[in-house]
Amino acid sequence: MKDVDIDGIGMTSRRTRDRLIQRLKEQGIKSPAVLEVIRNAPRHLFVDEALSHRAYEDTALPIGFGQTLSQPYIVARMTEALMAAGPLGRVLEIGTGSGYQTAVLSPLVKKVYSVERIKALNERAKKRLRTLNIRNAQLKLSDGAMGWPVMGPFDGIIVTAAPDQMPEELLQQMSENNGRLVIPVGDRGVQDLLLITRQGDTFKREVLEAVRFVPLLDGIQK
Ligand code: SAH
Repeated sequence: MKDVDIDGIGMTSRRTRDRLIQRLKEQGIKSPAVLEVIRNAPRHLFVDEALSHRAYEDTALPIGFGQTLSQPYIVARMTEALMAAGPLGRVLEIGTGSGYQTAVLSPLVKKVYSVERIKALNERAKKRLRTLNIRNAQLKLSDGAMGWPVMGPFDGIIVTAAPDQMPEELLQQMSENNGRLVIPVGDRGVQDLLLITRQGDTFKREVLEAVRFVPLLDGIQK
């Protein structure tokens, strides 16, 4: 691979990453697989170069177009909740953004489908994932409130922007056999991070914690 510093130096060194993992553990993240993937994911390549020295702090960072890459704790928490019942096959992500969450999911599941409504973000994420040689992720420019019906049903769905109400379409696209959906739902400002699990026609709803996400918006932005 050329022109990309995957390991990172200085502020992005192994020690900096170890500190982040320690912090995530202290905040209650337990899954060794999730912690290991986050330790290895080159988060500094998913933010502007000017911010890359802050990539391993546990903070949200801007990715342009008024959007943000969630803080590592939230990425870890959502990934852990999604994976908690065992390995997953097909996973749908709504809100590709930088592609960081996609990169975190990719070694943990068989295939990631990810949709983004802002064209420039979709294109940048595609390029990054190609550079990192991530081959089991398929990205699409589209309004994710509709899910990705032709690719479903999904064993897991993760939504990284907040609708004010649960999109019915996403419930339909959950696997009937232990499908899992992790989604922030609520008004602009603070939302509830929900874990929905499906067994046939029965949907169980659990509130994980209060979170702040950018809103899920309608339509595509070219
Ligand atoms: N998972 C991302 C987080 C990005 S922030 C990452 O790891 O970087 C949330 C993203 O959701 C933004 O990029 C925003 O443009 C996108 N988004 C908002 N509404 C959407 C919709 N209806 N369909 C698809 N993407 C949407």
